[in-house]
Amino acid sequence: MKALRLTGWKTEPELVEVPKPTPGPGQVVVKVGGAGACHSDLHLMHDFDDGMMPWQLPFTLGHENAGWVDAVGDGVTTVSEGDAVAVYGAWGCGKCERCRHGVENYCEDPAAAPVISGGGGLGLDGGMAEYLLVPSSRLLVRLPDGLDPATAAPLTDAGLTPYHAIRRSWPKMTPTSTVVVIGVGGLGHMALQLAKATTAAKIIAVDNRTEALDLAARMGADHTVMSDAAAADAIRDLTAGRGADVLLDFVGAEATIELSRAAARPLGDVTIVGIAGGSVPFSFFSQPYEVSMQTTYWGTRRELVELLELAARGCVHVETTRYSLDDALRAYHDLRDGDVRGRAVIVP
Ligand code: NAD
Ligand code: ZN
Ligand code: ZN
Repeated sequence: MKALRLTGWKTEPELVEVPKPTPGPGQVVVKVGGAGACHSDLHLMHDFDDGMMPWQLPFTLGHENAGWVDAVGDGVTTVSEGDAVAVYGAWGCGKCERCRHGVENYCEDPAAAPVISGGGGLGLDGGMAEYLLVPSSRLLVRLPDGLDPATAAPLTDAGLTPYHAIRRSWPKMTPTSTVVVIGVGGLGHMALQLAKATTAAKIIAVDNRTEALDLAARMGADHTVMSDAAAADAIRDLTAGRGADVLLDFVGAEATIELSRAAARPLGDVTIVGIAGGSVPFSFFSQPYEVSMQTTYWGTRRELVELLELAARGCVHVETTRYSLDDALRAYHDLRDGDVRGRAVIVP
């Protein structure tokens, strides 16, 4: 079968021929129906040197996957051939307390996991191929009726990651509050819809591309703001001078972190999700009083179940731009150039 594989650090992936996987005991092979192209893959192929990640090359990219069960190994009883499934992408040890609660994104025994701090497409073979080997059936969530795999795939990361970040800030997202979404790409376009679908907060979208701001307006943002030196003042103007209660930064550059805390209201939350690698000095006076600054990584299995339900009911729309496996590299080039609307999804 064909697979798009990362074969070296600081190189582009290659489309190569690899054997189709077969499932061992407890494992499942999924016929891939959709694999999302995440900006993190661009960081993987361009920013990381040899030795920075605890992973062996080569491996197939694609950590945002859904499809149909193709074959199950001995002992698998929770799914059967033909089931449409989403793949929960953070593959932990399955046994530590966090994993037992479905919080495999923060597994506490990564050395006992199939791969250290990763999953399919992050250190192990991922979904940019015709078939994907999933090491345990517990990592599969059956798709509710009305959700096809190519639409569901982005929900497993572009949807799940902002859902997790928003969910932990729910108590601050009241009808009188404001949430700011910075970066309306794959994750951000889901974030603003998730804020809208699950809270009554006012939503301000910020991006440096007009097409992204147009998409944000269509997806229900109350206001859009160009990401520039005037953005923090614009957000204060839109909030009667108070600032925003929750700011979600899907870029993570120095400029966007600075913007987030400059536009925060006292007692607010600033959550850095993007991994552009920006840093800012932190001191008593560097942000308004009682602003919490945090990072989040991916989401939990329970949250994926909730999110799939929300999407199946039509409460959020996954905007996808679809590519064939042969065109997967072009998807990454378009993502790098800012030419993808919503999420790029490879449909093998
Ligand atoms: P994307 O390329 O689809 O979207 C990024 C958006 O940010 C684009 O719309 C772009 O125009 C906008 N942008 C870029 N610079 C900006 C600036 N200075 N101000 C405002 N907007 C700006 O990327 P994505 O796949 O949505 O990923 C977003 C980030 O989140 C990436 O850094 C990715 O690696 C990271 N990520 C983190 C997690 C996590 O668990 N923390 C999970 C997935 C992705
Ligand atoms: Zn990702
Ligand atoms: Zn664990």
